[in-house]
Amino acid sequence: MVNKIDHIGIAVKSIEEALKFYENILGLKSAGIEVVAEQKVRVAFLPTGDSEVELLEATSEDSPVARFIEKNGEGIQHIAYRVDNVEAAISEMKAKGLRMIDEIPRYGAGGAKIAFCHPKSTGGVLVELCQRG
Ligand code: ZN
Repeated sequence: MVNKIDHIGIAVKSIEEALKFYENILGLKSAGIEVVAEQKVRVAFLPTGDSEVELLEATSEDSPVARFIEKNGEGIQHIAYRVDNVEAAISEMKAKGLRMIDEIPRYGAGGAKIAFCHPKSTGGVLVELCQRG
């Protein structure tokens, strides 16, 4: 079902501040910043070989990213696996008894179709299924 790790989502207080490390020190290059209103976040993707780093900054106090930082501080928030068909992946997960946060795909940055699996079903990791193109 899973092709590869599509990206790693990292919650940050400020994308501009975080880019000092990712661009100036690691030498990655942001592919631009997008606001995803539905999830109340600003997002920057930094291509890293075959995968990407996704920096997530809350645009509102009730954003899931703001709540994550309040609880855990800045850091890795989720891991996204690339799938060919997110609807089929959701059905398969549910058939295998996995608890989904999203039973219907939602819009992800860059026009991806995404769905989150519940961390209680995945050993504590927030897992995103991500379909591109
Ligand atoms: Zn993501």
